[in-house]
Amino acid sequence: MVLESLSNSLRAVIKRLAGSPNVDEKLLKELIRDIQRSLLQADVNVNLVLELSKKVENRAKEEKIPPGATLKEHIIKIIYEELTALLGSSAEIKKGKHTIMLVGLYGQGKTTTAGKLARYLSKRGMSVGLIAADVHRPAAYDQLKQIGEQIKVPVYGEPGEREAASIVERGLKQFEGFDVKIIDTSGRHSLERELIEEIKAVASVASPDYRILVLDASIGQQAGAQAAAFHEAVNINGVILTKLDGSAKGGGALSAVGHTKAPVIFIGTGEHLEDLETFNPSRFVSRLMGMGDLTALLERMRESIDEKKAEETARKIMSGHFTLREMYEQMEMLADVGPLKKILSMLPGVATTKQNVDPEEMQKKLARFHVIMDSMTDEELDNPKIIKSSRILRIARGAGVEQKEVRELLRQYNLSRRAVKGFLGNRQLRRQLLKQLKETHEN
Ligand code: GDP
Ligand code: MG
Repeated sequence: MVLESLSNSLRAVIKRLAGSPNVDEKLLKELIRDIQRSLLQADVNVNLVLELSKKVENRAKEEKIPPGATLKEHIIKIIYEELTALLGSSAEIKKGKHTIMLVGLYGQGKTTTAGKLARYLSKRGMSVGLIAADVHRPAAYDQLKQIGEQIKVPVYGEPGEREAASIVERGLKQFEGFDVKIIDTSGRHSLERELIEEIKAVASVASPDYRILVLDASIGQQAGAQAAAFHEAVNINGVILTKLDGSAKGGGALSAVGHTKAPVIFIGTGEHLEDLETFNPSRFVSRLMGMGDLTALLERMRESIDEKKAEETARKIMSGHFTLREMYEQMEMLADVGPLKKILSMLPGVATTKQNVDPEEMQKKLARFHVIMDSMTDEELDNPKIIKSSRILRIARGAGVEQKEVRELLRQYNLSRRAVKGFLGNRQLRRQLLKQLKETHEN
């Protein structure tokens, strides 16, 4: 997969978020820092990175969590949306009859991409003709001719002719009635007057529906300036980024082009003619983040993370193990809306609220408890009985809360523990819960 290391680090961020017991400001800041680091390593422009992180942070803090979602899911959705926005708009080659002109500097991959595109479109049932209009390189015609033979697509060319526009004029006539005509043009070392004139002349005889810039992704962020310059000169309406397979700077190229008006339509991912992929920002980000699509991810989060944890917690509680940690986990799961909610709400513990859990209230309570529990030692968390006045004073100071809040947490714990005890003594209830746990496990 392209941008593998960016993908790995983004997946690590998601995993960390999913696995954290609670999302607080500190965690959010750390996650954002991880994202920043990953994007900078992929060569994304520092200003774009800062803009993105500010947006993620503000949205995570200010936006109301949509009904049915948890805070974690909401944050993942925000990250996903902002990364998608970073890559700009999306476009595709529509079905129908088209003329496509490929432009770009030397060695960017125009000729190879002309072949890839011809193969891609003819595989989808379109009749395609290739026109060799690179009049600059002596071997250009032969290169395209060879590619055409490989993919069984006819190539029109006139070796020796110096006038690109005339070749194109006759080539288009030759391929009249074809669905798609693809024009491969000359390059230069830089975008100079002569090249602009030549492309303009070709464009004026061909009136191409797609004027696509072919750009080597390994130039990184500079891809943005190049796309803008070509847009200015010949009004491009699409970009194909090549060589994303070998480039560590692909993130820079993609985001920089995303910032211009021309959308990336395809990416080249290898030297072979089948190494061409359609590019769609949201699908691309989904893949980078390791999810088929957002819905699938949200489902997976609910199922694999929460369910597994829920089951584990439930089993521990069933075995009589009920410390502050279990209480916290149980409350956290009740705050989430997940498939196990019904079962969990059968569990005693948050005894008085077991019918109607208000997720928002619960999140607030959890945040307070989290701060307090952070100031406790492992010993205290595992054996809350030992927490007497002097410890309460210390914990309250450490957490920056009042002593009565620590007492409130302990009171809640004692209530829950008593309820759990009573519950475990009730054989019928116990059997019912075990059965449900088993069914959930089997599904
Ligand atoms: P042009 O001068 O713009 O027509 O560029 P070419 O099509 O001749 O390509 C220049 C070089 O880049 C060739 O060696 C191609 O095999 C290579 N190339 C093109 N696209 C890709 C790609 O997506 N990945 C890799 N690894 N190499 C590519
Ligand atoms: Mg070429």
